[in-house]
Amino acid sequence: MPEEPCQCQDCVRFYREHDRLIREFPTLRKQQEINWAALQSFRTLCGRVLEDLQKKLNSNSSNQAEENSQTWNKEKKDKSITTVISDLENINAYLFSVEALMERVFDVKVPDEVEDKFREIAGELAPDPLNIDRLRLNRLLHQTPDLPDK
Ligand SMILES: [Zn+2]
Repeated sequence: MPEEPCQCQDCVRFYREHDRLIREFPTLRKQQEINWAALQSFRTLCGRVLEDLQKKLNSNSSNQAEENSQTWNKEKKDKSITTVISDLENINAYLFSVEALMERVFDVKVPDEVEDKFREIAGELAPDPLNIDRLRLNRLLHQTPDLPDK
């Protein structure tokens, strides 16, 4: 008996997203592009939030006397903002390393026949969920007549 995959909400959402990415980006080229875009958007967003938090922290320490509820002017909040900044700096450093590795992955090109193979396997791994009739039909066609139905 093969082990049943976990069916908790997080896992189910992951399987669905995983399969969608295979279905919508079924070639090496497309996987390279979508992953590059995902990495870059992640870096851009984190970088901008980090800049913003650093600005806030700096302006807080320069006008500490000012009472302004709109800025992070409390000692406690400054501490937590410092921790968040260092977490985000770590993330950015990791993403930078990932980018360096991914550049190598993205340099690779394969012939069209291999891209066709990618498409073929992608179709097997993540068939269109909307085409449920074809799935049922496939399952029927592949069933061994000797085996009893579950
Ligand atoms: Zn799970």
